[in-house]
Amino acid sequence: MIELKNVSKWYGAIQVLNDCNLSVDKGDVVVVCGPSGSGKSTLIKTINALEPVQKGEIVVNGTVVTDPRTDLPKLRSQVGMVFQHFELFPHLSVTENLTIAQVKVLGRKLDDARARGLKMLDRVGLMAHKDKFPGQLSGGQQQRVAIARALSMDPIVMLFDEPTSALDPEMVGEVLDVMVKLASEGMTMMVVTHEMGFARKVASRVIFIDVGGHILEDCGKEEFFGHPENRQPRTKDFLSKIL
Ligand code: ADP
Ligand code: MG
Repeated sequence: MIELKNVSKWYGAIQVLNDCNLSVDKGDVVVVCGPSGSGKSTLIKTINALEPVQKGEIVVNGTVVTDPRTDLPKLRSQVGMVFQHFELFPHLSVTENLTIAQVKVLGRKLDDARARGLKMLDRVGLMAHKDKFPGQLSGGQQQRVAIARALSMDPIVMLFDEPTSALDPEMVGEVLDVMVKLASEGMTMMVVTHEMGFARKVASRVIFIDVGGHILEDCGKEEFFGHPENRQPRTKDFLSKIL
């Protein structure tokens, strides 16, 4: 579903991704962790070409993202993305937030878009809030709306960039619950997070990326958590700080 081959990226003279290789199969839940500034957000943004790369190839479901001829708006409409800050439109109601891109990007009829959006809102347990504005919701609820909004576009894969790290602790669980459910329903997901409980529960693989954009680990969760003796020193050091 996603393949990165020898991907390198620089911001000016600074290299932020260093010869990254990875593949994500249909139904995989790949958790990406690593220290601040290691390139996790950059990595995830390269997948829907929000960040260009200077070297290597990225393929999403057969579409070569790094090919200049690729229809990027079409690609982006198929790749759901959820950020740390929910980025809902503050002046639009929850329902309007859920429908606008379906209408404008996918060309759906308003009634169809609304039906689809509300179905996804129900899926994240927020039907009662459909007519509210983002400012009237808690952070956890806003993030669940952001997930519902992404799902409304019928994505083939979902990318998450630290979706719970801006939330008050008591709201982290409700967002992770939605993500666990999504994973168990077979959604292909790539998730940047330091929530190792989530990784232990649903990850098919865990990737550890170190400063400079080096992928140091890429292995199953049993291997990652169960065999610390096999991990790189940098990974052990990182895990000792967050676990
Ligand atoms: P992470 O998400 O792991 O914290 P990022 O991908 O955000 O890491 O950043 C990786 C490196 O690239 C950092 O050193 C960061 O300062 C730098 N960086 C990120 N975005 C930009 C940008 N737009 N311009 C220049 N440098 C950037
Ligand atoms: Mg980041």
